[in-house]
This record gives sequence, C-alpha cells and structure tokens, in this order.
Amino acid sequence: MNISAENICAKTPFLGMTHSDLVDLCQQAGVKPVHADHLVATVFRYYQSDIDAISTIPNILKTYLAAHASMFEPECTAAQLAADGTRKLVLKMADGKAVETVLIKGANRLTQCISTQVGCAVGCTFCLTATAGLSRNLTAAEMVSEVWAGQKISGGQVSNIVLMGMGEPLHNYHAVAQFLEIITDAKGMAFSPNRVTLSTSGMVPAMYRMLEDKWPCNLAVSLNATTDAVRDQIIPINRKYPIATLMQAVRDYIQQRGNKRVLIEYVMLAGVNDSLDDAKRLCVLLDDLHCTINLLPFNAYPGAAFDRPNDAAVSEFQAVLVEAGLIAIIRQSKGRDISAACGQLITSIKKRNDSGRL
Ligand code: SF4
Repeated sequence: MNISAENICAKTPFLGMTHSDLVDLCQQAGVKPVHADHLVATVFRYYQSDIDAISTIPNILKTYLAAHASMFEPECTAAQLAADGTRKLVLKMADGKAVETVLIKGANRLTQCISTQVGCAVGCTFCLTATAGLSRNLTAAEMVSEVWAGQKISGGQVSNIVLMGMGEPLHNYHAVAQFLEIITDAKGMAFSPNRVTLSTSGMVPAMYRMLEDKWPCNLAVSLNATTDAVRDQIIPINRKYPIATLMQAVRDYIQQRGNKRVLIEYVMLAGVNDSLDDAKRLCVLLDDLHCTINLLPFNAYPGAAFDRPNDAAVSEFQAVLVEAGLIAIIRQSKGRDISAACGQLITSIKKRNDSGRL
C-alpha cells in the first residue's frame, strides 16, 4: 500500500498536487473532500512522506493514492555548511538531474533560495549556472520537494522563500504558478505571499502575465546595469526587452499591485557597472519608484570573467543612492567560505566526476 517512487511517470507526483487536485482525488476515491485538508496539512506542513502512517485518512483513500500518486523525495548528494550558518544542498531528482538549494540564515528568519530549472537559458555572462545552458524545467513537485528538503534539514525553520536559484522562473511559467499555489496555500505549507519573492532577469511579457494572474508573491528584478550597452552585454535578454521597456513594466506592476514595493537587484561587477556615473544613472532610473535596491558585490568563482568591486567602491555607490533618497542595502554574500556562487557546488561536483575523483 506504500506510495512508491516507482512508475513516477505513470502516477501523479503527490508534491505537485494543489489542494483542489486533492479534493478531486478524494472524490474519485469516494471519500469526503475534507480528507484533502488532512492530507495537505500532514504532508505539506509536517513533511510526512509515508501516507500509510497518516491516521486521519481512511484506508480506501490510502489504497487509491497508492495506485494513482507517487511520492518522491530528492536525494541530497552534497551539502556544505558555512561559518555564518548558510547551508547549500545539491538535490538529485528522479532522472538524476541535480539542482542547488540554499538556506540563508538571517537575524530572525531562514530564507530558502529555490531553483526553478536545471540550468538556465538566459545566458547572463556573470553567472556560473548559465555556462552549461538549460537542461530542463523543474516540475512543481520538484520545486516543492526542494522546500521539503529545506524544512526537513532545518526542523521546519524556513520562513521565507526566494525563487533566485538556478533558472529563470518566468521561463517555467506553469510549473512555477502551481508551485506558488501549493506553498502559499493556507491549509498546507502556508507561506505568506509577502514572504515569497520571485526574481526575474526581465521577461517583460511574463511579468505582465503574472500580474494578470495575481501570483501570490513579491517581485524582484535583476537590473544590474544602467545603460542598454552594458545590459546587452551581461544579460542578453535586454536586447529584446531593453531597460526602458523593463522599467515601464516594473512601474505598471507597482501601480497595479497597489503601490507594492519591488526589489531591484544590482550585481556589482568591478569596472563594468560600479562607477559613480552608474550610481547617478540608477537614481534617475529608479526615481519615485517604490523599491528597495539590493547591491550585491559579485561573488567571484574560478574562471569568472568579472571581478568583485572593492568595499570602498561599493560603499560610495550606495552613498549616492542613499543621498538621492533611495533605500539601498549592501548584501554581503552569505556563505563566502563555501561555494557561494549560484551553481558553484554543482559545477565543482561535475568537474570531480568528469575527472573521476568523486
Ligand atoms: S543569473 Fe539567473 S537568469 Fe541569469 S543565467 Fe543565471 S540563473 Fe539564469
């Protein structure tokens, strides 16, 4: 009667089911819909993977689930713990593909950074994940399984979710929509939408679509440049959706979400986008915009084509923004004593595998 990981393709992955999917499933099994609440609460809030062990649902439902649903937990194949408490995990999915997820400790929060794709097709030139291209999209169930793994290893302490790991979330629209529905369901994982943030490199049409679809999350935009000439070079999608188009989409988003604050991410690359002229142009671009700016000094990795700016340059850049009345925070990367850049742990494992040393 166990829900097994076998034949997962033929069965519906349990972790990808929304509450309404489970209500339908209860009806098909001939039991009361209220059992969907028990299932969602036990599996999504108490991380119970053994359906047989759930005492609040009838046996007929367990039998039906065993025949129609699969329960898959990714295998954690590598883990690193930094001195500051940042924990990085590599999770292997059923087909052997691996993604990274990171648990970042804050003063009174634990934020989990989720991957939405295996690799990424956007091709940002400063990003290690981009170097291998896109392998495939993750399913909603696989993204939920990342949260599961994070909650299990932290004893249920994850309080915030950011979709800022491997992949461009808006390139995987349907699965991400389903993932957001599952994790913010008040009867299930119950993350407040205010504690969930999706970051995009600037997929303008999909930004309007997520607005129309009322996605339950905050928006972050990875801007990283103040001129199209530079942004074209470091984020190729800018050639399709240049800065003016992107900023108009951000303004429309803020306005239509009732003046909701947006996060502007700015990865600082030495000698590329970190000048005081850049800072001044950024002030003009973000003038009157209801936003917080995260300044992220580049996380260098072996073979990177860019350097991290020095601390003085970062502080001077921040000062220009602050003097202009903007909220700008320097985010020192967490976990700098481990493979801190996105995709770095997986890349190092692959390299070791390729050279037969693992
Ligand atoms: S920075 Fe994000 S969007 Fe750009 S290539 Fe890397 S994973 Fe993709």
